[in-house]
Amino acid sequence: MVKETHYYEVLGVQPTATDDELKKAYRKLALKYHPDKNPDAGEKFKELSHAYEVLSDSKKREIYDRYGEQGIKEGGGGGGGGFHSAEDVFASFFGGGMGGMFGGGGGGRGSAQRERRGRDMVHPLKVSLEDLYKGKVSKLALSKDVNCSACNGLGGKAGSVQSCRSCNGNGVKVTLRQIGPGMVQQMQSACGDCKGAGETIPDKDRCKQCSGNKTVKERKVLEVHVDKGMRTNQKITFTGEGDQSPGVTPGDVVIVIDQKEHATFKRDGDDLIMLMQIQLVEALCGFKRVVKHLDDREVLVISKPGQVIEDSMVKMIPNEGMPHYKNPFEKGNLFIKFSVQFPADGFATPEQLAQLETILPARPKLPAYDPANVEDAELQPFDPAKYEGRKQSSRSAYEEDDDDHHGHGGHGGGVQCNQQ
Ligand SMILES: [Zn+2]
Ligand SMILES: [Zn+2]
Repeated sequence: MVKETHYYEVLGVQPTATDDELKKAYRKLALKYHPDKNPDAGEKFKELSHAYEVLSDSKKREIYDRYGEQGIKEGGGGGGGGFHSAEDVFASFFGGGMGGMFGGGGGGRGSAQRERRGRDMVHPLKVSLEDLYKGKVSKLALSKDVNCSACNGLGGKAGSVQSCRSCNGNGVKVTLRQIGPGMVQQMQSACGDCKGAGETIPDKDRCKQCSGNKTVKERKVLEVHVDKGMRTNQKITFTGEGDQSPGVTPGDVVIVIDQKEHATFKRDGDDLIMLMQIQLVEALCGFKRVVKHLDDREVLVISKPGQVIEDSMVKMIPNEGMPHYKNPFEKGNLFIKFSVQFPADGFATPEQLAQLETILPARPKLPAYDPANVEDAELQPFDPAKYEGRKQSSRSAYEEDDDDHHGHGGHGGGVQCNQQ
């Protein structure tokens, strides 16, 4: 049982109607009552579109069936969504392209959604990690075109604007160029007389404020709210703050966050990562280190005595990462990657070393070996860079050798000889 049947009656269907039946009913009635065809039926058209918008959405239909129109009103006002204009419902139903639908309707009104829209203006904004942590309001000054107030964006006295005769108001000229026997290329170029505008204004009537340009430059300061936890490539949009131009809906100004590198912290989502160099004694016997955080707070990092930090080990401090965007009391974690600095050769006397051995875990026992059949091999310094070079040259020798196998011929043998 449904609570109310009004929307169904508007569309002339039963409350048991299928989606298909609803669609058909709406199509028939919307075309009949569309204001382009039936200017007196504006209210009827609105009602129709509204009813269809509700019933064609399974969630909204369920609410309507259960709670009636009141339920839709309450549900629609709350979280986002809301309702579209009758014209939008109609356009989305018929897929937009309704230009010729009413046959020679003169295109005067046309469809509302085909409005011309200006370009969006995209500005990168460099922001420090500190500011992304704490949040900040940045002032951004930009210069934009605004419609000239002296001439209301006409460019001159009312009625003085004339269609350009040289291009018939098109702003472009089409020229034909013969590029070969029987072949003609069509070229389009901006009209020089009106500079592509399609219209001209006699000098005496030209607006002095904007010199006939219809727009003037204006300095505008935008307050950019950089919220806590924002990230690189996140966008802040100022709707309609783009350049103005008569007859055109201005585009948006879009600010794109670009985080500056930080000397201490690297960022990974809401987490922060830092490197920390500690001495061997700290790695074994514990330490305290003060880390200056992004909000100037000092965080005392503590490793208790007895906690052993190995080289390249990563430890975590919960909730000392970046604030979560839109929920800044929740924070990511701080990861610390350790680099343990060992003492230099000869840092202790043999006696001290013997003493150290009594504390450290015991060394493994030396397996039995034959003293008569053993050779001492002392460890030598090793330079990875030099080693890398040697590996490379031996590989290229191998490759030449390999080439030879594939039968590239006689001189290969000579190369091999030289190398030996
Ligand atoms: Zn003007
Ligand atoms: Zn022209």
